[in-house]
Amino acid sequence: AIVFDQVVKNFGALQVLKGISGHVNSGEVVAIIGSSGCGKSTLLRCFNRLETINSGQLLVNGIDLSHPALAPKQLRQLRANVGMVFQQFNLFPHMTVLENLTLAPRKVLGQSDKESTRLGRFYLDKVGLLPKAEAYPDQLSGGQKQRVAIARSLCMKPKIMLFDEPTSALDPELVGEVLAVMQQLAEEGMTMVVVTHEMQFAREVADRVLFLNQGQVEEEGPARQVLDHPQSDRLRAFLSRMS
Ligand code: ATP
Ligand code: MG
Repeated sequence: AIVFDQVVKNFGALQVLKGISGHVNSGEVVAIIGSSGCGKSTLLRCFNRLETINSGQLLVNGIDLSHPALAPKQLRQLRANVGMVFQQFNLFPHMTVLENLTLAPRKVLGQSDKESTRLGRFYLDKVGLLPKAEAYPDQLSGGQKQRVAIARSLCMKPKIMLFDEPTSALDPELVGEVLAVMQQLAEEGMTMVVVTHEMQFAREVADRVLFLNQGQVEEEGPARQVLDHPQSDRLRAFLSRMS
């Protein structure tokens, strides 16, 4: 679970998160929506300590990220618990798909070749790409690369998955296959936070939606309630731009 309360994040003089509060329960899928620059990526990056918050409270799977200092052991524990998938896939181009998947489990978790290969093949199969195990990233489509990136994250057995616009860089015809993998993950009970512009996906897969505006939660609630019956003018305007 994630709990954040009155979280402030500044970049120099710019206050990006302005005392933002909310939560993500275990097993829940929360979609974060909002206009460009409202702080979606920044909030997500705070959850796995790619950014450090300036003030407020932030707890991720029981690890307290409220303070500027964090013990290396806690950071390792956090990184092991929280997987992140970005818009850009960041696969290692000189490694095969399977090598991309087994690298971190071997280096970070100390798994044997045999164990990491077994697990890597299991997750490749899960995203429908077992036949591509020996391919190199540049031999894959964008959608396939993103499914590999998701599988690579899953190999670390995370308890929470963060997605930052995972389909925004894809050609429209490739978006569906990635969303399908994410939907399956959601149905299996993974705790997920998804920054997305895919309103259909948010409506069907997310339990809750947070609509951010200028670094604060402007509207929040069950996905269908928020998306089908927006209360604020800002959210109504945002949704009409998206459709
Ligand atoms: P988008 O939909 O375009 O991805 P976003 O909601 O994810 O937008 P953020 O990336 O969180 O927005 O950025 C919020 C604000 O913080 C923007 O004004 C951005 O320019 C600024 N910002 C983000 N990262 C940094 C940084 N490292 N240094 C300075 N400013 C930053
Ligand atoms: Mg962003």
